[in-house]
Amino acid sequence: MPTFKRIPVTLVKGQGSRVWDDNGREYLDFTAGWAVNSLGHCHPSVVEAVTQQVKTLIHVSNSYYTIPQIKLAELLVQNSCLDKVFFCNSGAEATEGAVKLARRYGHLHLGGAYEVITATGSFHGRTLAMVSASGQPKFQEPYIPLPSGFINVEFNNIKAIEKAINEKTCAVMLEPIQGEGGVNLPDDNYLKAVSELCRQKGILLILDEIQTGIGRTGNLFAYEHYSIEPDVMTLAKGLASGIPIGAFLAKEGASVFTAGEHGSTFGGNPVACAAGYATLKFILDNDITGNAEAMGQHLNAGLEELKQKYDFITDFRGLGLLKAIEFSNNIALSLMQTCMENGLLVNKLKDNALRFIPSLIINKDEINEALGILDKALSGIKS
Ligand SMILES: *Cc1c(COP(=O)(O)O)cnc(C)c1O
Repeated sequence: MPTFKRIPVTLVKGQGSRVWDDNGREYLDFTAGWAVNSLGHCHPSVVEAVTQQVKTLIHVSNSYYTIPQIKLAELLVQNSCLDKVFFCNSGAEATEGAVKLARRYGHLHLGGAYEVITATGSFHGRTLAMVSASGQPKFQEPYIPLPSGFINVEFNNIKAIEKAINEKTCAVMLEPIQGEGGVNLPDDNYLKAVSELCRQKGILLILDEIQTGIGRTGNLFAYEHYSIEPDVMTLAKGLASGIPIGAFLAKEGASVFTAGEHGSTFGGNPVACAAGYATLKFILDNDITGNAEAMGQHLNAGLEELKQKYDFITDFRGLGLLKAIEFSNNIALSLMQTCMENGLLVNKLKDNALRFIPSLIINKDEINEALGILDKALSGIKS
């Protein structure tokens, strides 16, 4: 079905931060499968873990324990402020599950409260309920009527959340940095204020870290930048470096599901969890978050130089290796195409903005190479 605006390129091979098409053309990949290939393409640790697991046990039902699921859950809990994990297969399933958990919490502890407050410009996935949660008309309008129970309020406006909270509210769900919606950073103290408001009202704070989590922003989780702790957190994208997986985690007090209240056939699959464990273990053991932070700084310095050089660059922003560059006019598509012709894959975030979400193992030379290609593409634009 024509649901994706395809770029007419067929990719057949990947290694590290590079991919190759069926004509043997090489590209530096600054899209990483939409912030998924955290350790780049076909990382040896992930390949080894998946290969071993495929030879050992591919799938059993969640009626039984498996070692990879236990190992990944343990590593996530040891390295986050959360205590319990539910595994699923994608981001949308993770946020959907987190909302179901919040509704159970509302039934049990908040007199039946069920409403979840989310932000405009947010993105929480494509299921019908998550389209309703995502505060973007373009995802909602084709599917009206939408499931009820979601209130979209302005991002970075604490007053708007305060106003929307009532006796029906069970949670606030936010991306710490809005990824798909534009790499929109939270204002100073916004998340802290939201967190304090949730505590004061006794409602849950759900952070959707599907794009920001697993080292992307230079910390393992973005909430660490803002000195807050979510009650519930969702993960997917970079968690298994390319093998489909999702998860939501909760603090002990918010972990209210009992047996039978939620489930998944494939969720927590041994192969996916082995890939997740290999990814997370490599990130932790090799200070890959430190690399994301350092390479993010290096990319910033290069983007600053380009901004000095081209007056139609209006802004660049982001944390770690989640970055966007914005222009005064709608040149993103043409820039993306020129970059591709010159061997660099970048993501068109908006008509006037590009997003850079390379692998977290990207190095200085690769960033310099990308900046060179971008510079060349920019020099062809008439301002
Ligand atoms: C990508 C994304 C999702 C949806 O993930 P899928 O795996 O595509 O369902 C949800 N939330 C955020 C913040 C995302 O970036």
